[in-house]
Amino acid sequence: MTRDEAIVASLAGVSGLALAALYVFPPARWFGWDETWGSTSRADLARPPGPMERLRIRWAGRVADAVRDEFGATSVNSWYRNPELNDAIGGSPTSFHMTGLGMDLQPASGSSEDWARYLHTRTDLPLDEVIWYGHKSHVHISVAPGFAPGKREFLYAYDPGDGSTKYSTWTP
Ligand SMILES: [Zn+2]
Repeated sequence: MTRDEAIVASLAGVSGLALAALYVFPPARWFGWDETWGSTSRADLARPPGPMERLRIRWAGRVADAVRDEFGATSVNSWYRNPELNDAIGGSPTSFHMTGLGMDLQPASGSSEDWARYLHTRTDLPLDEVIWYGHKSHVHISVAPGFAPGKREFLYAYDPGDGSTKYSTWTP
């Protein structure tokens, strides 16, 4: 093996380990990989996240851990969605769910409004958008990528009575 070949081989070994770590270690203190993807309605279309999505899911995991720390038991309604799945279930074509940075979390205790109120106080978290659903009881959280400060947009979603979803800006 030449010197260059040895360097290439060791780099491949290091990146292989880093990649393996991305799959083996859970994405957050309170959440496992199996909770970050999948679909109960269209399981046939769900695909596991790739390495880039896993990096973003880990980043979003900080925020998921923060609400879990504060409110206890929390279930994941939807987190990463591959584009085919997102399209099939009527997700927005620009949904953060497709990047791994969007999460729909369901409080087991406390209301979705309590969650929004709490997240509003957490100015240290990279929040892009928080939507709490009055009629569905989950909270959608989009996390700003990298170290960019998020938009910190807070919305309240409700059913005006005709089965549709309306959104209005919200402050505690
Ligand atoms: Zn969502």
